[in-house]
Amino acid sequence: MGLSEFDLIDRFFRDVGRTRSDVVLGVGDDGAILRCPPGHELVMVSDTLVAGVHFPLDAPARSVGHRALAVNLSDIAAMGATPAWALLSLTLPEVHERWLTEFAGGFSRLARTHEVQLVGGDTTRGPLSLSVQVVGMVPPETALRRSTARPGDLLFVSGRVGEAAGGLALLQATLAPRESLNDSVRRSLIERFEFPQPRLALALKLRGVASAAMDISDGLLADAEKLARASGLRLRIDLERLPQSAALAESFLPATATNLMLTGGDDYELLFSVSRKYQDRLEPLISQGDITQIGECLPEMPEDPAHAGVELWREGARLRLSALGIERSGFDHFA
Ligand code: ADP
Ligand code: MG
Repeated sequence: MGLSEFDLIDRFFRDVGRTRSDVVLGVGDDGAILRCPPGHELVMVSDTLVAGVHFPLDAPARSVGHRALAVNLSDIAAMGATPAWALLSLTLPEVHERWLTEFAGGFSRLARTHEVQLVGGDTTRGPLSLSVQVVGMVPPETALRRSTARPGDLLFVSGRVGEAAGGLALLQATLAPRESLNDSVRRSLIERFEFPQPRLALALKLRGVASAAMDISDGLLADAEKLARASGLRLRIDLERLPQSAALAESFLPATATNLMLTGGDDYELLFSVSRKYQDRLEPLISQGDITQIGECLPEMPEDPAHAGVELWREGARLRLSALGIERSGFDHFA
């Protein structure tokens, strides 16, 4: 390494993100000192990205920096919290100054957008991986959980799902695109994978409205399954209600696009349930296309295991995943 560890931290990580007035002491000492705002609860999240597992080995450094923070901010959004401080543990095979400049730039840009300050971390040598922790704040008892959906609630998703997985498939040439796919649509999908936007603004509007929420990192069906189990109920998802993606439709055959919408991960959209009595409050978000009602919450049927978790319906009939050519509902590191 040309730079010492100290120089490296000083040069690339001392001034990342927004300078916050509640940071008493940031990068440089053995620990950061932070001033907790009175009357708030803290929410802590952590996520690790491993090169070759969570992003391609040759991914642009700016995207790696952005995603390392974005996946954590998405967890903060899913809890209905506001992010404040971040830690970054970085394992690097070598000091590549250009890579580090781009990486820190991608991280810092997103951090500034959401008023997050990088207050510390750790730097070691080894195969490329990044672990980020973020602390956020939320007024007492307003955090959103995944275990509190109720039968009868409506099920919503933000944005469009499947586009990031479509972009990754194009990058890695694992799915054949339509011949007519044009370059700007192709780039828009890749952008969805490389620069996901955590739904923090939406999350604040869901406080006091959503009965349960989580972010979608592993795929709609796989994550809906987690919400269903945590809340002890069934989720009915109507295929024809899923938000349609023009970019996916232009890029892939219909069956492939449907498969991506149901099982593709990496979008970092929000999945949430809302009591029918609050449905009106969401009308502006629905009419702007920011959120879409995709189904509803149904009571558990413990006597029939085939009815646990998520049910997929199309035009009034229940569908089997195999009928759609789907083998797995989403990404699982240990499956
Ligand atoms: P120590 O020797 O006490 O473990 P380090 O040399 O690892 O301290 O870190 C020195 C300072 O730099 C600490 O404040 C630490 O939080 C910060 N730091 C180290 N690596 C990073 C990083 N990748 N990003 C941000 N801050 C970092
Ligand atoms: Mg250390």
